[in-house]
Amino acid sequence: MNLVPHQDDELITLGVETIASIRERGEENHVLIFTDGSASGVHRLLANGRECSLHGGTHHYRMSRERFVAARDREFTDSCRQIGYSRANIHFPKERLRDGEMDTDGAYGVLKGFLSTFRVKDGDRLVLRTISPYGGPEQHSDHTSLGCAAVSAYKNGLVQGLELYQEPYCVFGLRETHKEAALGVKMADRQTKEVFAKACAAYGKWRPLLGRFAVGVHSMPDFFEKSTESPASYAIGNVDEMIELNG
Ligand SMILES: [Zn+2]
Ligand SMILES: [Zn+2]
Repeated sequence: MNLVPHQDDELITLGVETIASIRERGEENHVLIFTDGSASGVHRLLANGRECSLHGGTHHYRMSRERFVAARDREFTDSCRQIGYSRANIHFPKERLRDGEMDTDGAYGVLKGFLSTFRVKDGDRLVLRTISPYGGPEQHSDHTSLGCAAVSAYKNGLVQGLELYQEPYCVFGLRETHKEAALGVKMADRQTKEVFAKACAAYGKWRPLLGRFAVGVHSMPDFFEKSTESPASYAIGNVDEMIELNG
């Protein structure tokens, strides 16, 4: 069960590992997104009337919060499908939290509510895969909150396992603040790179008439330009020890 705070975290932070899990190890993967992604500055950017070098045309798209969230969800669903999730395994909670306002209690409540309705097949282990909360002071607070909620769920026995991954852009923060972390880097092989590139393309699609505004690429143009060269997942290798030391 992959837990993500926003659209694109399933790819940028968890993507390489998830692709291997689904396509190489044949494991059943689900994804649950917690916030609506509505606080992105791209919402305003798309209405600023300026020309843009990322695509032809100008930014003359003023839209409601709901329409912006729907546009982001199209990118997210498309990315998840490329990664290899079946449509039925892409989950939106009943009560979606506001982007930028997720605290640990809120995240834990959504997770607990969702898991109470989630059936695990006999003999299967339920493992959470999510973002490590140890990324340092620069880490997005929604990411930290969700990581902490996942740690609590694991400690409280709601699930049988926990995997934590650091955002590529927070690896430095992890190393600065947690010398005790054992970081395992998994680089994508050629096949994984191809899948990863297709999922990235979901965040770069500019088709305004179809409700596609390349929100992901507008928010992190440098990342999407470079990420397909050497995508990687950064796993915390000593999760139990980290929890013991840091709570
Ligand atoms: Zn995020
Ligand atoms: Zn643009």
